[in-house]
Amino acid sequence: MSDKTKIEWADATWNPITGCTKVSEGCRNCYAMILAERFRGTPGHYYENGFDITLRPDKLDQPLKWKRPRRIFVNSMSDLFHEQVPFDFIDQVFAIMALASHHTFMVLTKRPERMLEYCSNPQTPFRVARQVDVISAIKCLGDEEIRPISGYPGYFASSHGYIYSEKRGRRKRMKPDIGEQGHQRVQLHREGAGRYGDRLLVHRIILEMFVGTPPTPDAQGRHRDGNPGNNAVSNLLWGDQGENWSDSKRHGSYRRYSKLTHQQVTEIRLRHDTGESNEALAREFDVSATQIRNITSGAQWSVETPIEWPLRNCWKGISVENQKAADERIPLLLQTPAAVRFLSCEPLLGPVDLERHLNGGKTLDEWKARALSGVDPYGFRPPYPRIHWDIVGGESGPRARPMHPEWVRSIRDQCQAAGVPFFFKQWGEWSPWYGDEDDDCPCGKEHEGNEHCSKMHFWGYTGSGGPAGYEPRGIVCSYRVGKKSAGRLLGGREWNDFPGS
Ligand code: SF4
Repeated sequence: MSDKTKIEWADATWNPITGCTKVSEGCRNCYAMILAERFRGTPGHYYENGFDITLRPDKLDQPLKWKRPRRIFVNSMSDLFHEQVPFDFIDQVFAIMALASHHTFMVLTKRPERMLEYCSNPQTPFRVARQVDVISAIKCLGDEEIRPISGYPGYFASSHGYIYSEKRGRRKRMKPDIGEQGHQRVQLHREGAGRYGDRLLVHRIILEMFVGTPPTPDAQGRHRDGNPGNNAVSNLLWGDQGENWSDSKRHGSYRRYSKLTHQQVTEIRLRHDTGESNEALAREFDVSATQIRNITSGAQWSVETPIEWPLRNCWKGISVENQKAADERIPLLLQTPAAVRFLSCEPLLGPVDLERHLNGGKTLDEWKARALSGVDPYGFRPPYPRIHWDIVGGESGPRARPMHPEWVRSIRDQCQAAGVPFFFKQWGEWSPWYGDEDDDCPCGKEHEGNEHCSKMHFWGYTGSGGPAGYEPRGIVCSYRVGKKSAGRLLGGREWNDFPGS
């Protein structure tokens, strides 16, 4: 993870997960795997376990510490949607992205089927919203601050959600009663008041001491994480009756639904969809059939959520190294809810015809036709999903494979025709080289330009030339010069377009 990166299209990388396994040709020379595997077995090293999937919860909050807005490449050392990464953990990654709304996050995967499964599940925004609540409550906890409770001498409120009483210089944490809805109450005595004192809600005391007086006479305290026992100031905010109801629905605690976990609710819905009766489900989960009906109809445990979904600041992309990857992955990306969808054609290993996938392409036409006929298998409504950005780059590293310059030009032209911003990242290890078939190979060894060698990859002829034997034909090759020398100019200029630029 780094606050800085040499990756041209990002300002920073963030790796709450490291490790991965290869899935396609684009992975053959995976730089991250090579880097991590070098340290496998080195005791105490960050990559002691090489490139095994490793969750890094301690890295989760890193973007929250970066104040300046950045474009952040998520998991440059892994794949967020790797099958060994549990959805629960992905929820936390998305929650951080939701909380760090000043950044733009770029999630790039070679597993679009799992990304689609995760992002299109109607329960996902619900779970992410819950993680947002939990994380915001934890991250603000900080050092405990204690303030005297005004009007009640000898009593103190703590920013961690406790009430203290003090007698003869000894301060003691009070044990609260638990009210009907799980709310905590304490009995405080005012100076000169009756011997029974006042029974007060702990969360209201904390809010009044740390946040301020209620904004309206009938304001209520809200618990961000849905836990009425968590009265830390970071977990509380003022709200009204309607907001509290909507919190309860979101947290599943509305009208005693709290006995079910989110996983159980998901299971109930799935099993109901496959035909199981409300009565059978009610018996198994020990709730009433009415409750099951409310759950399956969405009246309870709704996906009503304070976060927008898909997240506006999360761009979702897939790797497209060749036509096979394009044809398999792009349709899945187009079905994935996303604010911005992008392709990373790096390392580009073959020609790619994107037209069938970009604006106006065959697939979109089919979808449009289906939508017009009222049969839209994906449930899309206009405007139709599209690709918003394309990055292209050649491979780097000792085993880098060359990239035909025409493949790059063709993608650029297709993007321009479809109005899709194009970013040319690099040529990689191999630079384009044009010459004549009679030219000596620049490697310095004795052979012509139109022969392969370790430094020169011959692609083909650029024209027919003159009569055979009289005029040499033009040739196009890739010449191995190293990533730095090869640079990133295409047609004499850089291509640095971003979505919206
Ligand atoms: S998916 Fe990405 S991180 Fe995983 S092995 Fe392939 S190139 Fe490496």
